[in-house]
Amino acid sequence: MARRNWSWFWLILALCPLMLLLRSHLPAAAPADAVQPIADSLKLVALTFDDGPKTRTTPRLLDGLDQRGVKATFFLIGKQVEEAPELVTRMAQSGHQLGIHTYDHVALTGLNQADFDAQVARTRQTLAALLGYDDFLLRPPYGTVDDGVKRNAGSPIILWSVDPEDWHERSVQREVAHIVSKVTDGDIILMHDIFPESVDAALQVIDQLHQAGYTFVTVEELFAARGVTLEPGQVYRNCPPEE
Ligand SMILES: [Zn+2]
Repeated sequence: MARRNWSWFWLILALCPLMLLLRSHLPAAAPADAVQPIADSLKLVALTFDDGPKTRTTPRLLDGLDQRGVKATFFLIGKQVEEAPELVTRMAQSGHQLGIHTYDHVALTGLNQADFDAQVARTRQTLAALLGYDDFLLRPPYGTVDDGVKRNAGSPIILWSVDPEDWHERSVQREVAHIVSKVTDGDIILMHDIFPESVDAALQVIDQLHQAGYTFVTVEELFAARGVTLEPGQVYRNCPPEE
């Protein structure tokens, strides 16, 4: 009996280097923040939310997005970022993409450099100080763009291709019907996370478009999936698949 126990001991000892060798050949885990490649054969859509963050409505949207495993893109007002930084940190930690929607929601057309910087550069600095990176898309309020905006943007300018005008009637049913009937592969949907009706509508849209086979991606993921490099000062509205 004693003899048999010793043979097991030597066998295990002999296997140890082999197991270490095998372990060193296992693939390393991908870093948590790596952008996962998305197959471009999927139907893709990007949900975007302007005018937040807002303490009364944004947390419920973030909960709903988390529950559904959906990443969205938020175009933020700098002044409100300063008032609710914890919401912005949460967005970044949940994997949502963040962009600039000016410091206090003014049209950017016709502004001189100093006034433009007071809206865009100031918001970029606020976000960078909070998050530790400064790579933010720009969405000008009202979607108004001129040559000065393109010249001074310092980042890609992201508009939209589906607009349910959720600020207007504030009808969940109408907004959902509008989006679901209009959306096509590669669209960018414009909503506002400052209205409770928009939060309800967005979550219903996600559930219906999931059923219809859509995958929700951030703006950056949408263009990356289709091999389009976003350029500073260029305007983008959607990214349909190539014919
Ligand atoms: Zn806005």
